[in-house]
Amino acid sequence: MKSSIYSLTFDQLQDWLIEHGQKKFRAKQVWNWLYKKRVNTFAEMYNLNKDCQLVLEENFYLGTLEQEIKQESKDGTIKFLFKLSDGNLIETVLMKFSYGYSVCVTTQVGCNIGCSFCASGLLTKNRDLSAGEIVEQIMNVQKHLDAKGKDERVSHIVVMGIGEPFDNYDNTMDFLRIVNDQEGLSIGARHITVSTSGLAKRIYDFADENLQVNLALSLHAPNNELRTKIMKINKAFPLEKLMPAIDYYLEKTNRRITFEYILLKDVNDHKKEAEQLVSLLKDKRHLSYVNLIPYNPVDEHNQYDRSEKKAILDFYQVLLENGINCGVRVEHGTDIDAACGQLRSKQIKKDKEKQKA
Ligand code: SAH
Ligand code: SF4
Repeated sequence: MKSSIYSLTFDQLQDWLIEHGQKKFRAKQVWNWLYKKRVNTFAEMYNLNKDCQLVLEENFYLGTLEQEIKQESKDGTIKFLFKLSDGNLIETVLMKFSYGYSVCVTTQVGCNIGCSFCASGLLTKNRDLSAGEIVEQIMNVQKHLDAKGKDERVSHIVVMGIGEPFDNYDNTMDFLRIVNDQEGLSIGARHITVSTSGLAKRIYDFADENLQVNLALSLHAPNNELRTKIMKINKAFPLEKLMPAIDYYLEKTNRRITFEYILLKDVNDHKKEAEQLVSLLKDKRHLSYVNLIPYNPVDEHNQYDRSEKKAILDFYQVLLENGINCGVRVEHGTDIDAACGQLRSKQIKKDKEKQKA
């Protein structure tokens, strides 16, 4: 059965070529075509010999994603809805910042973690994405930039789309190695951030990977009672399991970690929670950054509202006064359903309605 060539790391492609009677140096040529020249067919790889081209063609697809929808926001954010080869839909978002272009990728079709505020978790996981399907999201967006002819490149990646990356750990790690590889896209590890809802045992593994990739933890509450209420994953990995994993990560990597905190009106945005958060983080504040995130309303989760501006500022102030590095996330593309999973869940609803009609 054919698979996506974008699923292979450089070493894996090299091994594969050798096993199939090809020369080792072909891997470098193939990657140059894939990631630097960014061709769409094997036939265009004219410096490979015919035999090598054929064996690749017989065994691999070069691109399996089909673009279904492209929504452009007033602020330049573009949301892509892609169809996978099995018909499943996923989302990818391109955002423009002063420091460059950042892409938010999806790692799973749906999500089993089921956080109470999230559109992605509305639909349980259908399957994991292959490393190639995650890489292809970047390639498609890069080709969109290429088509503009301005020589612009994707310079940053956030693994914050649909899915829990640490529930698809191996494919996510391959993805990171592929996009970071100097023979390919060469996107700097320090420009890549992986966000997890807190699968503690995988945080230990991630610390041991020896990657310079950034880690973000979706904390959202400073105590177990509240965290369990809004994120049921906290039952499996409560703070007394999660925080030691974070400490291990910090000790091992000495890299700063981002704590994400969605502010939900009257739920987790009081002074009390801000103070609890300070206590939770104070011993690691030199390596912590708290990202306060305005809640992006999701129709199905109408029990939540966005915090008032004053509550956000007061919360921020408490952290700041206590020496915790923090900021309030600037939003992108709120006019185009940019909260992860929203475009997809709306499209699936529409498709279902169409089927009924
Ligand atoms: N599963 C991973 C990564 C994908 S979610 C995780 O949970 O970390 C990426 C980020 O978007 C998380 O911090 C998540 O909590 C946040 N998020 C989810 N739904 C949101 C919403 N409605 N408004 C704002 N942020 C949201
Ligand atoms: Fe899954 Fe992350 Fe959404 Fe939670 S916030 S349901 S872990 S995608």
